[in-house]
Amino acid sequence: MSDILILCEHDRGSIEPSTLEALTFARGAFEGDDLHVLVCGEVDDLAPLGEYGATAVIVAEHDMLRDFSPETWGQVLAQQIDDMSPEVVLACGTSRGNEVLAQAAARLDMPFVANVNEVADDFADDDETEVTRVQWGGSLLERAGLEADTKIISVTHHAVEPVSAEGEEAPSSTFEPEIDELYARSIVIDREIAEAGVTLSTAPVVVGGGRAVGSADAFAPLEELAELLGGRVGCSRAVTNNGWRPHSDQVGQTGTRIAPELYIANGISGAIQHWVGAMASKKILAINTDPDANMVTKADYCVIGDLHDIIPAVIEEVKKRS
Ligand SMILES: Cc1cc2nc3c(=O)[nH]c(=O)nc-3n(C[C@H](O)[C@H](O)[C@H](O)COP(=O)(O)OP(=O)(O)OC[C@H]3O[C@@H](n4cnc5c(N)ncnc54)[C@H](O)[C@@H]3O)c2cc1C
Repeated sequence: MSDILILCEHDRGSIEPSTLEALTFARGAFEGDDLHVLVCGEVDDLAPLGEYGATAVIVAEHDMLRDFSPETWGQVLAQQIDDMSPEVVLACGTSRGNEVLAQAAARLDMPFVANVNEVADDFADDDETEVTRVQWGGSLLERAGLEADTKIISVTHHAVEPVSAEGEEAPSSTFEPEIDELYARSIVIDREIAEAGVTLSTAPVVVGGGRAVGSADAFAPLEELAELLGGRVGCSRAVTNNGWRPHSDQVGQTGTRIAPELYIANGISGAIQHWVGAMASKKILAINTDPDANMVTKADYCVIGDLHDIIPAVIEEVKKRS
């Protein structure tokens, strides 16, 4: 039986869904192994960790862990790896997850493979093994050999959906790590929440608009539809390049990866750079004048026609039914 050490990503005590993705991936890839979760700082409720498959939880308590800091979290993780010598160290491949793993790997002079979506059968036990990693925002899958006693990997964000294991609360222990002041070089001074409530990456419905929407004002019907469906408006880079929407609304390789229940892509061609940010959507409805557009051929449903006629008709229908 192998020891798998998983980093818990949390924001000021609230566990991020990305942690549950990492646990779900680990359950599938390392069935029967011990899944230890490392928590840096305080978490309000540890129960979801056991529910999603953790067999043990280790909480690092220290004043310097009150807020996220890649250096201190990396230092704590490096200490834990040193103490435990796990076969695998894992986090979700968010920017925070990758940053902390890179910090720990660099300190321990160990290799780190980011954005993995598959591991070989023998991965935990074999010192020479293989992974498949996702490159260029999903447009390239690369098989890589990995030679290490402790294999440090991050799992591609949104590669798996968090699925509860209906597990019991895992036993937890605490320890006080040694953290040098040296590691307090990047600390949070202030925070401004730019987006409250449903965000683009967590919205159950995303109503996306592309170049064909035509102007900033012409996004009003998309806003209305998104509000009716409890979702958010997203857009393509053609739209942000035109200054019609902020970059925070952009879906894609250089924007946000979304994974809603439904993505309604209006007047979006579905270029690969957009597609890699949208492909984790459970269902896609494409509204486009071109039946051969990439987004249309990949979508689950499509309506061929002018979005300026179709969206108002959809809004009217949704209003009638609600
Ligand atoms: C390095 C790099 C990174 C990139 N990153 C991103 C990224 O993160 N996200 C992203 O989106 N793009 C990205 N791009 C740009 C990407 O390649 C495309 O240029 C862009 O996605 C196109 O946007 P669009 O689909 O809105 O526009 P277009 O490609 O112009 O498509 C418009 C679509 O609207 C349809 N249409 C026209 N009129 C109507 C109408 N009246 N009603 C309905 N449909 C209509 C057309 O048939 C067409 O399919 C990146 C490019 C590069 C090089």
